Amino acid sequence: MTPESTTFDGMWSAIEPIGREPSTGGYRRYAWTQADATLREWFAGEAAARGLDLVTDRAGNQWAWWGDPDAAVAAGRPGVVIGSHLDSVPDGGAFDGPLGVVSALAVVDALKAKGFTPSRPVAVAHFIDEEGARFGIACAGSRLITGRLDADKARGLRDADGVTMAEAMASAGHAVEQVGPDDETLRRVGTYVELHIEQGRALFDLDRPVAVGSVIRPHGRWRIDLDGEANHAGTTRLEDRRDPMLLLASTVLAARAAASAHGSVATVGKVRVEPNGVNAIPSQVTAWLDARGPGESEVRAVVDWVGRESGGLVVEESWTPETVFDVPLAKRLCAVLDDAPLLATGAGHDAGVLATAGISTGMLFVRNPTGVSHSPAEFAERADCHRGVQALAAVTEELAR
Ligand SMILES: [Zn+2]
Repeated sequence: MTPESTTFDGMWSAIEPIGREPSTGGYRRYAWTQADATLREWFAGEAAARGLDLVTDRAGNQWAWWGDPDAAVAAGRPGVVIGSHLDSVPDGGAFDGPLGVVSALAVVDALKAKGFTPSRPVAVAHFIDEEGARFGIACAGSRLITGRLDADKARGLRDADGVTMAEAMASAGHAVEQVGPDDETLRRVGTYVELHIEQGRALFDLDRPVAVGSVIRPHGRWRIDLDGEANHAGTTRLEDRRDPMLLLASTVLAARAAASAHGSVATVGKVRVEPNGVNAIPSQVTAWLDARGPGESEVRAVVDWVGRESGGLVVEESWTPETVFDVPLAKRLCAVLDDAPLLATGAGHDAGVLATAGISTGMLFVRNPTGVSHSPAEFAERADCHRGVQALAAVTEELAR
C-alpha cells in the first residue's frame, strides 16, 4: 500500500455511511440538508488535518488551499485546482462526485509524502449542488459563481416540499445575500482538473484504467405537452376517445428510433399524467425528453422527429452546447498519463461550467466496469481508484511544478 492509497481508503470508509438510504443502498446527499452539512464538516476537517486554508465562496463551494492563492494571482500564476462534488442524485451511487474529492485530498498526501513543493498553489475544491437533485438546476454551485445562474432566480427555486434555496441556505448558516458571481474566487483558478468515475464502459472495452476528457456532448431537456379528453375507462367507446397516453407511446418510440438514426441518445424518464387514475382516460400527459448527441444538428434532428411523431407542443427547458475542454491541456494530460485515451462524455460537470467561463479545464475518468451510474450499482475497483489518485497526482505535479 502506498501512503496515498491508505489515506484514500480511510477517507472512503469515513464518508461511506453519510446520506445512505438503508432501504435502497443508494445515496440521498442533497444540497443544504443534514447529510450535506455532515459532508461539509468532514471536508473542513480533512482540510484542517492537512494544514490547508479553507475558503467558502459566495455560492457555498469549499476550496482548501495549499499555498497562497492571492500571492499567486498577483504573480500572474494562479492556482491548480482539483476536486469534484459530494452531492448525489436520488438513490445515487457512491462514486459520482466523491471519487474526485477523496482522490484530490489523497493527491495532496501523495505529493507531500514525496516531498514535492508546488511552485503554484494547489487547491482541493468541493462544489455544492452539482446534481441539482433538490432544486432542479444542475451545477448550481459553479453556475452561480460564474454568473451562469442568476442569484435571484436561484434564491427563489423551490424543492419538492416548497422550501426555497434561500431558506435552505439560511438554515444551513450560509449568507444568502452574498450569493452571486464570484470573480475573486474564479481568478484564483489557473487550471481546474476534475477526476470522475466514467459514466459508461468505454475504458473497460479499451482495457485502460484512466482516460482524459475531450468534450461534453451537447445536450438539452424538452417538455412535451400532449392533450386529450378525460373520460370513463369503461363506458367510452374506443373510436370516441382522445387518449394522450397513445401519443406518449408514439413519443417514446419516436425518441428511440430518432436517437438510433442520428447516433444520439434520447430518454423519456419523467412523465406526468392528469388525472392519473387507473379507470380514467387521461386529460393530459406531460413528458420530458432528455437528448444528447455528437453535435447540435443531430440532437436537433432527434427533437424535431420526436415533436412530429408526438403531435404535441415541444418546449425547450434547457440547452447546453458542446463544451470542449482545453485542447493543449488535454494533450499534456494524455502525455503525462502514458498516452491515456481521450474520451467524450454525455454528462454535464462543474468542469464544463468552468470551461465556459474561460478557465483552462480538463477531466480524468476512472474505469467503471459495468458502466452503470446514478444508481446504487455504480462501481469502480479499488485498485482503479488508487490508479486514479496516482494519475491525478502526476497531473497535479506536472501543472504545479
Ligand atoms: Zn458527477
